[in-house]
Order: sequence, then C-alpha cells, then structure tokens
Amino acid sequence: MKATWRHRSACRGLDPEVFYPSSDEEAEEAKAVCVLCPVRQMCLEHAIVCREREGVWGGLTDRERRRMLRQRQKSA
Ligand code: SF4
Repeated sequence: MKATWRHRSACRGLDPEVFYPSSDEEAEEAKAVCVLCPVRQMCLEHAIVCREREGVWGGLTDRERRRMLRQRQKSA
C-alpha cells in the first residue's frame, strides 16, 4: 500500500540528511520541520509499525520512539 500521506509532508523536497542526524542533539533542525507537519502522527505511526531504527520520524528520534513505545506498553 502506498503511503499517500507522504505527499502532504512538510519535509517533502528538503534535504533528507537533515532527518538523519548523527546524534539526538543534532535533531533539532528536523524536529523544527516536523512540529509544523500536517501528517506528523501518520509519519510517527509508520516509523513504529515499520520499526524504523534510524532518523527522525514524526518529530521523534529512534531513542524517543523507543521510549514512547515502552510507555505505551506499560499503560496498555
Ligand atoms: S513528521 Fe517530520 S519526518 Fe515525518 S513527514 Fe512530517 S516533516 Fe517529514
């Protein structure tokens, strides 16, 4: 299935390298784009379902996504 939400993403056409920072501390530029993105939640869920291990998705780094998943699992 094609992810049609990607066509509405705020990062469309931007340098992908911005979204693959070498550390969480360098993720601020990407997060500044994500915070304004209309498909942020869909992007985040996609990263979780597809187990993306690199990059900023939905405004969260991999470490932040894993933390969020742990919190979800605790409250389930
Ligand atoms: S949330 Fe961020 S990475 Fe995801 S589509 Fe939007 S701008 Fe791109």
